[in-house]
Formats: sequence, C-alpha cells, structure tokens
Amino acid sequence: MSAIINNIEIVKTESSKINEVDFDNLKFGSVFSDHMLVCDYKNGKWEAPKIMPYQPITLDPSAKIFHYGQSVFEGMKAYKDINDKVWLFRPLDNWKRLNISSKRLAIPELPEDYFMEGLKALLELDKDWIPTNDGSSLYIRPFVFASGEGFHASPADEYKFIICTAPSGSYFSGDVKVLIEQTYSRSANGGVGFAKAGGNYAGQFYPTQLAVKKGYQQVIWTDDNNHEYIEEAGAMNIFVRINDTLITGPTSDRILDGITRKSIIEIAESQNIPVEVRKLSVKEVVEAAENGTLKEMFGAGTAAVVSPISGFGYNGVDYDLPKFDDTYASYFKKRITDIQTNKSEDPFGWRFKVE
Ligand SMILES: *Cc1c(COP(=O)(O)O)cnc(C)c1O
Repeated sequence: MSAIINNIEIVKTESSKINEVDFDNLKFGSVFSDHMLVCDYKNGKWEAPKIMPYQPITLDPSAKIFHYGQSVFEGMKAYKDINDKVWLFRPLDNWKRLNISSKRLAIPELPEDYFMEGLKALLELDKDWIPTNDGSSLYIRPFVFASGEGFHASPADEYKFIICTAPSGSYFSGDVKVLIEQTYSRSANGGVGFAKAGGNYAGQFYPTQLAVKKGYQQVIWTDDNNHEYIEEAGAMNIFVRINDTLITGPTSDRILDGITRKSIIEIAESQNIPVEVRKLSVKEVVEAAENGTLKEMFGAGTAAVVSPISGFGYNGVDYDLPKFDDTYASYFKKRITDIQTNKSEDPFGWRFKVE
C-alpha cells in the first residue's frame, strides 16, 4: 500500500441519499453518490486528498477556470459482478491520459497514487452505489481545473482535482443519424483535440445544435483543413466497416486516443477481423454507401461503449446503412462489457480489481 492512502482524510455523510434513488430507472450521470474526493494543488504541490460528502464547491469569481478554461476531465466506469467484487477497466490509461491532457493545458500533472488510491478509497466507501442491473455501472468523473484567482491571462497557481461518481443505467442512444460536418471543426493541427479538455466540448455544442435542427443527432467531425477525412463521431471515436474490414483514423493531435477505440482494435486483431488504422476519406465512405459495401458505422467511447450509426447526411444527401443481425458493433459491445463486468475471460489483462 502506498503512503498516500493512509493520508486520505474521510468525512462520511450523516445522511445517505441512497434510499432516494430508483436504481431500476437510472439515467446517465444525473444522480450522484454520497461522497466525492477533493485534492488541492497549492504552493507548487498536490496536498493530501480528502473524501467528503458530495456538495457544492465555492470558487472566487476570478478563478481562472471561468475565464481561461483550464479544465480537463476523464470518464470511466466501475462495475460490480455477481460476487459483489468491484472492477475497473484499464484505469491507469485514464490516469495517463488525464496527465497528457493536463500538460497541454499547463495544468500540473497528478501522481499515480493520488489518482488510483484516491479512486479506490472513494469506490470502497460508495460501493453500494454501484448498480448491478444489466448494462448499468457507476460512471466516474475525475477532473482537474484552475481554482487559482486573478484576471491575469496566465496559468493559475492553484488547482483542484475532484472525483465524483454517478450510478448510471445502460446508455441507450437509439438510432443515431449523423451529419458529416463541412463547415465547423472540433480540433486543428497543433491544437488541443487530443486532450480531454472541457473547452473541446463547448466548441462542439453549437455545430451539434445546428445538426439537430436539421434532423440529425450527432456530427461526424472531419479534418479542419479541407473536411475531407473522417475523424470522430461527436465525442466518440469512429469506426467504419467496408465489406468486412474495420477502418478507423490514426490518433493524432486532432483525434483523441480513446480507450474503447484501442480495445476494439486489439480485440479485432486477436479475432482476425481485418482492421485498418488509416486516414479514411468522406469520398470513400460515400462511394461505399453508394455501391453497397458500406456495412456499418459506429462510435466508440466509455459511456455507450459502442453506439451504432443508422445513416449519415452529406452534401444534402441522406445515406442509410443496412440493418442486419450479428454486427461488429454488437459483437464488440458484448466482448468489452463481458470483460468489464467479469462475465468472461480477460485475455488482455484489462480488468482491474478494486480491493
Ligand atoms: C472521451 C472521448 C473519446 C472516447 O474515449 P474513451 O477512452 O473510449 O472513453 C473519444 N473522443 C473524444 C473527443 C472524447 O472526448
């Protein structure tokens, strides 16, 4: 056990809210567990994490998060198996990525044990909040932001690292129709697209609202240069199946290195499903839709795991994808959730027991 775990001060709630929660009708990320972990960065170092009752936080109006947007986050899930054992999925990758994001936004990096031991202590305390219904999980939101004060446009000198958790039902996205974006961009060369930065989401909302007005649910982001290549599906990575080959774009400073994405690639390789990591042009996808070789498109990310796309719009034309059983999308979703929930073998060593 690391030294830090002995230093986590725990203040338990005096009135648990757990009995107010309808665990059979959970939405995504809208009720929060009893406790949260808070860790302050002051005087050039991270102080010992504290666990306290879930509560509002107070910030000075000049806190730099409000003005200069220094804010990064992660999304992960905890699962409870039939023997009440608690599991995470590749959690060290979330910790690493949090620091990759932080570095790009000039936010101090967080030591591994603060993240891992803090998370484990929080999960231990709020274990009863992990739902067990099929498809449900405890969604975990670690985030870091600038709490330091002052209007000077420079990195803050104080930060907060917080972890909150939210019991969530199965994330059902329904039939997702997407619009291939030809005007706006999510990210640019040399930008922050690879970081899980709050501002990346802010920049997506308006173009997505425009797409929703036109009858689509989501935007497919293309490269900022000529809008020629497919990059991401909303806030998910994207996979396209042409004939039996799965194709996804290479990660770069514009495409986020998703844990679901790389897990799908590894599973595909282990199953001899042809998978190509390469630039994929809109032209190629439109041609495949026209000649009938486009079989599937789906988003990949922690919240939904896999989110199938039923059709896309481009240049004012709508293209429908075929409907059939035994899709790659349903195969990968099942393989990954079975590993996550300890219902199957884990040949990749991705499952992480919380104890
Ligand atoms: C979080 C995120 C993803 C998915 O990453 P996972 O690690 O699979 O959850 C993909 N794209 C963007 C832009 C994201 O923010």
